[in-house]
Amino acid sequence: MKVVAFDFSQDFTGVRVLMRSALNAPIERGVVTNTYRIYESIKTIRKLAHGGAKTVVCGHIGRKATDSLLPVWEILKKEIGPSVLFASDVIGKDAQTKVANLKNGEVLLLENTRREPGETNNDYSFAQKLSSFGDVYINDAFADSHRSHASIIGVPTFLKHFAGPHFIQEMEGIAPAQHPPSPSFAIIGGAKFLTKEPLIQTLLDRYDQVFIGGALANDFFAAQGHEVGRSLVSFNTNAKEFLINSKLLLPSDVVIDSPEGKVVREVDEIEPRDMVLDVGPKTIQALKAHIEKSRFILWNGPLGNFEKGFSEGTEEVAKYVAAAKATSVIGGGDTIAAIENLQIRTHFTHVSTAGGAMLQFIADGTLPGIEALKESS
Ligand code: ADP
Ligand code: MG
Repeated sequence: MKVVAFDFSQDFTGVRVLMRSALNAPIERGVVTNTYRIYESIKTIRKLAHGGAKTVVCGHIGRKATDSLLPVWEILKKEIGPSVLFASDVIGKDAQTKVANLKNGEVLLLENTRREPGETNNDYSFAQKLSSFGDVYINDAFADSHRSHASIIGVPTFLKHFAGPHFIQEMEGIAPAQHPPSPSFAIIGGAKFLTKEPLIQTLLDRYDQVFIGGALANDFFAAQGHEVGRSLVSFNTNAKEFLINSKLLLPSDVVIDSPEGKVVREVDEIEPRDMVLDVGPKTIQALKAHIEKSRFILWNGPLGNFEKGFSEGTEEVAKYVAAAKATSVIGGGDTIAAIENLQIRTHFTHVSTAGGAMLQFIADGTLPGIEALKESS
């Protein structure tokens, strides 16, 4: 079985479409601070609405079940219009009533799916109830499809299911990164130790060179026996095993936050009260040289704590990758947010809204959400 793309050329007037979108945008004080992921979802929602479907959109937001999709609704209303409604629950009274009254061309956004405990443990009866809101199911949430959650893998067992256009774009855009042409270079940063470290081995197998930066590098410094001070470290890793691999590259200097302000230090000079927050200038120059001689570049994860102003490493590297002749696949919610202001998004071959899902798809060649779309319902 193959993943089947939803056919927008057919007449779907009045068809109830239950769509899973990637809506998990960063929110601060009730306002969405980076809209890239939502705009990608909106393109598909708008197509369905214009075609006269009764579109029910579901997705998750934040880490806590109490987090709300209301700020995302504000954006959908602004972009698509007042025909976008909101249900204050997922499968409760409000959602049921609003689904039943949905008119052709209207869109109903359901509240954060993770408010239902059945979402994360893929509960059968939750998936069944959610499925009752649609005649067909579309998964357009590639970025969430590494999760075996009800709205990703449970619902398609009940409904005729399709991949949305953004989902297909992601699969096709990321696929070349699975087996890149030489010389290939992977740059991995960020802070999601548990998600990313298991994938480093696969990247070392398939790429000519793998650079580890961001907070992830701190684990490697610790494994090398260096002082890491007050830096963010997981201390729960196999970093040591990778150190012997000559393809592995680490920062040689770092930017730390000290009482005197930003200070650059060699990695073996980090002091107990230091906090490593970015890669240093020598490291950036070394990265530049690797980027310029590569034919293929994969990049996920900011190289520093950019939210707090430690953004130089990330921004410089972004500019070098953007200017390079290489094919470039970059992704990650925070990575995209970090380079938003540079306005260089169109200079990469593929920009994925996915971070963890992108890396898992590169390593495994598939995702739970992809497998669920292949099975017959
Ligand atoms: P992505 O969303 O792009 O996949 P992650 O979610 O893995 O990236 O990590 C992003 C986070 O990593 C950001 O919040 C950033 O501040 C943080 N980060 C990167 N480097 C450091 C560092 N040296 N110390 C603390 N946090 C860091
Ligand atoms: Mg992130």
